Amino acid sequence: MTPMRDFSIRTRLMLVISVLLVLLTIVATLSYRGFQSLSHSANDLVDRKVRLALLANRANQHSQTAANHLLRLLLTQERDARVPLYAAMDDALGAADQALKQFEAAGAEKEIAGDMVTLRALRDSYGEAFQETVEQIELAGPHSAKGHFEKETEPALMSLLAATDRLAVTLQDEMQGEAQRLTAEAETAQQRIVIVGLFALLCGAALGGLIARGISTPVNEAAAIAEGIAAGDYSREIPSTGNDEIGSMLRAIGVMRQRIAEREAHITRIAYVDELTDLANRAGFLEDFSRTDRTNGALLLLDIDRFSAINKALGHSIGDAMLRGVAQRLKAVLGEGDLLARLWGDEFVLWLSSADEHNAVGAAERIRSALSEPLTLDGQLLDLDASIGISLFPLDGTELSQLLRRADNALRWAKRRHSGVALASHEDDEQTPEHLSLIGEMRRALTEDHFVVFYQPKLDLKTRRVTGAEALIRWRHPERGLVPPGKFIPFAEQTGFISEITPWLVNRVVRDTARWHREGVQLVISANLSTQDLLNAELIEGIFAALDKEQLPPAALCLEITESALMDEPELALKHLDLLAQHGVKLAIDDYGSGQASLAYVKDLPVHELKIDRVFVTDVDTKPKNAAIVRSTVLLCQELNLSVVAEGAEREGEIKWLTQNGCDMVQGYGVAKPMPMEEFDQWVRKYNQPNSASPL
Ligand code: C2E
Ligand code: CA
Ligand code: CA
Repeated sequence: MTPMRDFSIRTRLMLVISVLLVLLTIVATLSYRGFQSLSHSANDLVDRKVRLALLANRANQHSQTAANHLLRLLLTQERDARVPLYAAMDDALGAADQALKQFEAAGAEKEIAGDMVTLRALRDSYGEAFQETVEQIELAGPHSAKGHFEKETEPALMSLLAATDRLAVTLQDEMQGEAQRLTAEAETAQQRIVIVGLFALLCGAALGGLIARGISTPVNEAAAIAEGIAAGDYSREIPSTGNDEIGSMLRAIGVMRQRIAEREAHITRIAYVDELTDLANRAGFLEDFSRTDRTNGALLLLDIDRFSAINKALGHSIGDAMLRGVAQRLKAVLGEGDLLARLWGDEFVLWLSSADEHNAVGAAERIRSALSEPLTLDGQLLDLDASIGISLFPLDGTELSQLLRRADNALRWAKRRHSGVALASHEDDEQTPEHLSLIGEMRRALTEDHFVVFYQPKLDLKTRRVTGAEALIRWRHPERGLVPPGKFIPFAEQTGFISEITPWLVNRVVRDTARWHREGVQLVISANLSTQDLLNAELIEGIFAALDKEQLPPAALCLEITESALMDEPELALKHLDLLAQHGVKLAIDDYGSGQASLAYVKDLPVHELKIDRVFVTDVDTKPKNAAIVRSTVLLCQELNLSVVAEGAEREGEIKWLTQNGCDMVQGYGVAKPMPMEEFDQWVRKYNQPNSASPL
């Protein structure tokens, strides 16, 4: 940049204006002085030369007048008549002399000094000749003097007049020369003024242009930078600038741009990045995904098993550290073009570009095995398990929302089946036309009373009495016969229809139980709750209302939940469990051992009973591994004051083993299969008769 830029614009403008003012002053002074000298010279010229010419003329005139008087004298014979003429003649000669003297005094210049000598000589000789003629007139009479006059005086006068005339002409010539010189001088002055004027004009224009450029160039740069900022381009170089106002403006723009960029980066970060794991968040993932080139690929939706339980049992800081650990491990499986984000809570999403079904399942298995390496957090070893749902592009959808939904369904499917990984196409298996017609049929089944409740007894192994039963739903289908719950409950859960089935079942159960109570058959009846049921506040209210209406003590009702029921929205589910427990309703953990539940978190739940899953009970008397699991569970439950129910005991050996190992209750074909209400009613009355011979 020019050194000019070190001065402020104000200073620069003042500088330029000052320079222009000085130049204009010079022009004005030059013109003034030029014209002053011209007028001076002109005055001089008029004064002197004109006066000289005038004096020369006057001298001539007076000389001629004197000569005329002399001529008249020559013609005048009488002496007396000549006397006044002498006087007039003297006057004329005196005046001529006077004029010549003045001429001499005024024209004391070198140029005409020579002429003056000649002129004076001529005047003297004329004067002498004149005097001689006068003397002759007086001595010899006018007539004889006439000859002298013609011979001497007249020629002397002529010479004098001629010389005077010549001098006048010379003076005139000189005057002309002088005038020409003055004209030339005036022209030179004019040219000089024009040149200086033009120079001032050019100077002004150049300086003005320089300043204008010095202002407009950086202002344009500033405008371009501002436009760049508006367009999100922060890379434009800000010119290193001078110390003037524009320099400060550009520096301010630079600072402003930096701040804007920082703030924007911060906002973008907050909007698109998950603070906890540093991965993209949901919005970031949508953004990144929209920018991928897709021909095929797989979307993996991952959910950590038991996360809310771990979070609750070990605290949020461990939970957070765990999520960071998971993020770290997930990052390791990413290839080029793959995306990873945390959608919310413990749910992560991966986009594996160009993965097919085979690759995707392989990647999912790799992720699961990477996660299963125990994680050390705060000195604690944590085993992690995750379920993964996979949807494939373009097979399962081309829109992200579609892919996410399908992957989510697959994830739920994987969780329900404890399969770890599931493809969206599996979830399809359940969406057969047969299933679709099911929903309408289920609705009809409810209104036409085709659902029935079977009761399966629970035997107290210490008292050998049946103290309770589990209510299990069946569908008495007009064409298909008795449909087991496994065939329609999962579908009812998926479609939300479960929210109509459960209230119906609970009402039926409360009604039956209340009747038994009135008739002296004291039973605690269990009903199964699904995940959505636990989030349904209306259902909880409905349960209380039903208990109230039937005047059934709440402790006569037990609700069975699986730990997966607590996964979706643990806060709300727990709130409802607390409400139920406070009301006095009993709660049981169902299928214990098959899922991810651990006693560490079960102990914090307001539950009263634990039902060990059938897989551990089967052959418990012959399989040491099962025996070990059941035994330790029984011991822990005793510690925690939970009653233990063994599910699915079919053989006498199993029941005997369970009795000997301190199990509280048993439920299984070994005691009885689930029965319709009326059948169970008779069965239980008979079984609990004091003198009845129990089958066991
Ligand atoms: P669950 O809660 O584990 O119920 C116990 C299941 O084990 C019942 O199957 C029962 O018939 C079966 N079972 C009992 N003892 C034995 C045995 O000794 N051996 C064998 N092999 N099986 C035995 P069911 O009735 O088919 O019910 C299946 C599942 O359907 C239930 O598993 C429960 O999760 C669900 N379910 C049943 N009724 C309802 C209901 O009203 N609502 C909800 N949400 N789910 C229900
Ligand atoms: Ca159950
Ligand atoms: Ca069960």
